Amino acid sequence: TPVSVIMAYAENLAAHAPDQEMGEQASAILLESRRMQSIIAQLLTLTRGYEGKYRLEREDIFLRDMVSDVLAELTEQAAAKEITLLEQVPAGLHLSADQSLLTQLLLNLVENGIKYGKRGGTVAVSALAQDGHVLLTIQDDGIGIEEKDLPRIFDRFYRADQARDRSGSGLGLSIVKWIVELHGWSIQVTSTLGKGTRFAIQI
Ligand code: ADP
Repeated sequence: TPVSVIMAYAENLAAHAPDQEMGEQASAILLESRRMQSIIAQLLTLTRGYEGKYRLEREDIFLRDMVSDVLAELTEQAAAKEITLLEQVPAGLHLSADQSLLTQLLLNLVENGIKYGKRGGTVAVSALAQDGHVLLTIQDDGIGIEEKDLPRIFDRFYRADQARDRSGSGLGLSIVKWIVELHGWSIQVTSTLGKGTRFAIQI
């Protein structure tokens, strides 16, 4: 893709910059291209979703393994904010889901927990089996969401006022909502400003 080419050149420039200023500029190009690539990927996912072109491929998934893999992928991001990632999923708990979409859902929610988390805080992914359903929760002890913003956070491009993190596009939660609805699940959010946020998905 065009962005991958920009990224490859920027990486090369950053590694071989003749002075510090040029190195910083090349790194800035690299960082912003990564953001652009992530926004494009999210828009493509949503567009395919809205056009009804995505074919759900359900498989039997062991949730604990999947959660561990997702948390492992985000270890570095969490460590940068000294955030502890917790996996609290019973062994043997399995469910029927599209593997790549469930991975995307978990990545988006845990990444948000880190982005909007406090330094030294915790993000926990828990699950329990309940009357033939699975209740999956992603909980953080971060900045929280104001009550007035709660009804809009799943809208495309919506970002709450207190979101100072530049790395977002306001698309992550609309993708989460689409994934939840495509599977026929439901999602609820509860949040207290300054205390933290909890997303609960009934599977
Ligand atoms: P973004 O790319 O801005 O993170 P999202 O669609 O993932 O977009 O989230 C929309 C908005 O919801 C965010 O900008 C932020 O204001 C709020 N939000 C989402 N997750 C959390 C969270 N765990 N804690 C606090 N605010 C959150």
